[in-house]
Amino acid sequence: MKKILFVTSEAHPLIKTGGLADVSGSLPKALAELDQDVRLLIPNYQALKTQGDVRFLCSLRVDNKNVNILETRMPESGFIVWLIDFPGYYNYPGNPYVDEQGEPWPNNAERFALFCRVAVEIAMNRIHQDWRPDIVHCNDWQSGLVPALLSLEFHRPATVFTIHNMAYQGLFPAATAATLNLPGQLIHPLGLEFHGMLSFIKGGLVYADQITTVSPTYALEIQTPEYGYGLEGLLEHRQDALGGIINGVDLEHWNPASDPNLVQNFDATTLAQKAANKAALQSKVGLPVKADVPLLGLIGRLVEQKGIDLLIECLPELLPLTLQIVILGSGSKEFQAQLQELAAPYPDKIAITLGYNEALAHLIEAGIDAFLMPSRFEPCGLNQMYSQLYGSLPIVRKTGGLADTVVDTTPDSIANQTATGIVFNDATAGSLLEAIKRTLLLYTQQDVWQKIQQTGMQQDFSWKHSAQQYLALYEHMMPTA
Ligand code: ADP
Repeated sequence: MKKILFVTSEAHPLIKTGGLADVSGSLPKALAELDQDVRLLIPNYQALKTQGDVRFLCSLRVDNKNVNILETRMPESGFIVWLIDFPGYYNYPGNPYVDEQGEPWPNNAERFALFCRVAVEIAMNRIHQDWRPDIVHCNDWQSGLVPALLSLEFHRPATVFTIHNMAYQGLFPAATAATLNLPGQLIHPLGLEFHGMLSFIKGGLVYADQITTVSPTYALEIQTPEYGYGLEGLLEHRQDALGGIINGVDLEHWNPASDPNLVQNFDATTLAQKAANKAALQSKVGLPVKADVPLLGLIGRLVEQKGIDLLIECLPELLPLTLQIVILGSGSKEFQAQLQELAAPYPDKIAITLGYNEALAHLIEAGIDAFLMPSRFEPCGLNQMYSQLYGSLPIVRKTGGLADTVVDTTPDSIANQTATGIVFNDATAGSLLEAIKRTLLLYTQQDVWQKIQQTGMQQDFSWKHSAQQYLALYEHMMPTA
């Protein structure tokens, strides 16, 4: 049994701004179910939704500050959560990273540096709790200083740093290093410096024993200038310690056999019942209820990363075809307006719902025939996995987690029954349009289509599967001197 300290700045259901929270809620739970001793460390934000007892564990003095550590249990899953209580830094309302105007909190460097220092004190068991982790698993820039600071300790635990999105790096003015009293040995271009700035993410990328990202393909992509944000050279240098593990799916919430948001539950043996959800979806979003017209869906942030501009470029050619499209999302005002303008002449073909709507997202996954995900980059992506589990064929660009979780439909993959969707290569409207036309053609061969649906529904996207890979990684890591 390994003792794992999981260090994260957000975790569902305590607090969530994005995918990191989903991983931080699900992975420790799955590791605990594999009999590992996991404890999660997170700042005690005002907005944290704890349930049940929160008790005082201990206090410590770090960087001239008196900090308390509180102990509670993760709602539902029950593993131990340690909260770093320092009201001067964490007792703000709302978002952990930005204020009401969306501006980063002005003292973010201090806030997350203290978070990292406390993680180091716990990792070295200087809080005297008779619990010394074997592995410290850090996530994204907020915990980036942990591997850096631990590298200076003797007899330290092994460190893992997981990148959930390279786009966020925790960059601060160089002078911040002095304000934070960071050890001088860490401050140089091969350490925490990045083009004259202080980079928190480099603490993880330079000093962690192992680096992971949330898909094997993204692990390769970030070693190239297109996806590496200037850190591709460092990542290439560390390629022997860098790998990818796909995120799992929360199967309690994403299971078509039990999902309460569907009008009719179904599984791989009762696939015909999916049709009732298609009819319900069509009527809900105001499209003509037609069983035989292929219905495509898209759910997500309407931003360039997701390739929304590619779809917009295709729409004038797509909409005259025999198909329907349902879109749910919010994001760039410009994309929203362009979509609505192109959709206006075709109310029988395309329905756009702006906003965030969890229940509708579930009904869309169940009711559509195929899901559009033409992302420019995608560290892991979830909707392409939900689609497969719900018998909908994902149409994806070959990037990041999409490349790793969708098998393109070809004569070979049809023959050996591995096909699960439609994959295209280039981030261009032409390439997307061709992929959609290929999908429409395939839809006319319902016997083949149904086999692909079946294969998708049988995929193992469980957290257990992913947690086993993390565990194998932990087990291969040597204790350090
Ligand atoms: P990302 O984290 O880059 O936004 P993912 O595919 O990894 O993309 O995860 C996005 C998650 O958020 C999915 O579960 C998706 O269904 C959900 N989601 C995104 N936009 C919406 C929306 N407008 N309404 C409901 N759910 C949404």
